[in-house]
Amino acid sequence: MSLTAPKGTRDLLPPQTGVWRQVETCFAETCALFQYGEIRIPTFEYTEVFQHGVGDTTDIVQKEMYTFQDKGGRSLTLRPEGTAGVVRSFIEQGLSSRPYPVKLFYILNLFRYENVQKGRYREFHQLGLEAFGAPGPEIDAEVIALLSLFFERLGLRNICLHLNSLGTAACRQQYNEALRRYYQPHLEELCPDCQRRFEQNPLRLLDCKVAHDHELAQGAPLLFDYLDAESREHFDGVTRLLERWGIPYEIDKRIVRGLDYYSRTVFEFVSENVGTQGTICGGGRYDSLVETLGGQAVPACGFAIGEERLLMEMEAQGVLPSPQSPAGVFIATAEQAAVLPAAGLAQALRRRGISAAVDLCRRSLKAQMKYANRLGLPFSLVLGADELARGEAALRSMADGQEQPVRLDDPDRLAALINSAAPGAK
Ligand code: ATP
Ligand code: MG
Repeated sequence: MSLTAPKGTRDLLPPQTGVWRQVETCFAETCALFQYGEIRIPTFEYTEVFQHGVGDTTDIVQKEMYTFQDKGGRSLTLRPEGTAGVVRSFIEQGLSSRPYPVKLFYILNLFRYENVQKGRYREFHQLGLEAFGAPGPEIDAEVIALLSLFFERLGLRNICLHLNSLGTAACRQQYNEALRRYYQPHLEELCPDCQRRFEQNPLRLLDCKVAHDHELAQGAPLLFDYLDAESREHFDGVTRLLERWGIPYEIDKRIVRGLDYYSRTVFEFVSENVGTQGTICGGGRYDSLVETLGGQAVPACGFAIGEERLLMEMEAQGVLPSPQSPAGVFIATAEQAAVLPAAGLAQALRRRGISAAVDLCRRSLKAQMKYANRLGLPFSLVLGADELARGEAALRSMADGQEQPVRLDDPDRLAALINSAAPGAK
């Protein structure tokens, strides 16, 4: 039996999980500022949701999915991304009857069979959102503004916004022909994946990570130059708003994104410490996806931030929040007779929002104090026969050893004292 976590997965432990939670809370709060509500979707879906939703020709569907048959013989897949599942839910739950735009955010763990390396795992996490029902550039720009504010609130700097447009299906068709003309003479040199892409979906050729193919892609014609007038106008609408908000961007005509469902606006936020894992966030508009998955034609846009990469970037920039220090009080017991009163007092404090712990391992008083010290709690209180008889004990500040008498029958006052001395005690 192998007692290690599967390759590409990780355990997250306290106090690190507290840091994750702070980042996630900041994301949820930022989403609330833009009036997004949280959606929770299943960890797995029927495989066709991703086949149709992400696209048959994508790396995700062709190489990276964890697909299995359940005992009923259905083909299921662990979600490799959030959008397809959210769209499936949008259709199934009839969310198109809600007032538009329907704004949903999510925090999900995802699964992809990947080449594991720094910033690339087999189970990873995304903070993302989708907005349904708004056709204009205003919403594209607004989700970018949300991201910009989120990064600002986290204290991150120098995350570059790269922006492009993929136009509509019609202009992509014209462009695909131009791409095929460009690649035709080089067909033999292409990697086997790209030879297949040439046939099935030439746009994917531009996303190849094989060195020679990547180089070849640099000379390829640009989709941006094939945009129809409306797509160009849409794009200008996005940049006008970004300029109005003072959000810097770079037009990057080579962004095609790894998923099939995008149309018009696509963007990435890239760290300046760019490595191959430098993309922290990817997003854009996907006007045909709801229809592709069987719903009405509902325009939509969204993004997903890689949480691991976000935290890596925060660490590199020295803005990772420090783990919150432990709060509250340890109530030590000097003898057996104090165990019940200590338990009673601890619960009374907790009901008043104060974190409290008692000895649960039947340790000696000395060992209890050692334990309290190791936990790093700011306060302790010792209950023994003497204290019980007097109805009073000494609240000890662990940092400086200072003590003050407190009544045992007045948990309100004790809670207030702990709160006033340590505002973080709650
Ligand atoms: P890449 O080109 O790096 O493989 P992608 O295009 O597959 O990225 P998306 O599907 O757009 O990525 O996902 C959005 C974000 O999720 C990425 O920008 C990245 O930050 C993060 N991400 C994607 N795959 C992984 C992974 N295997 N491990 C950790 N984070 C990931
Ligand atoms: Mg990928």
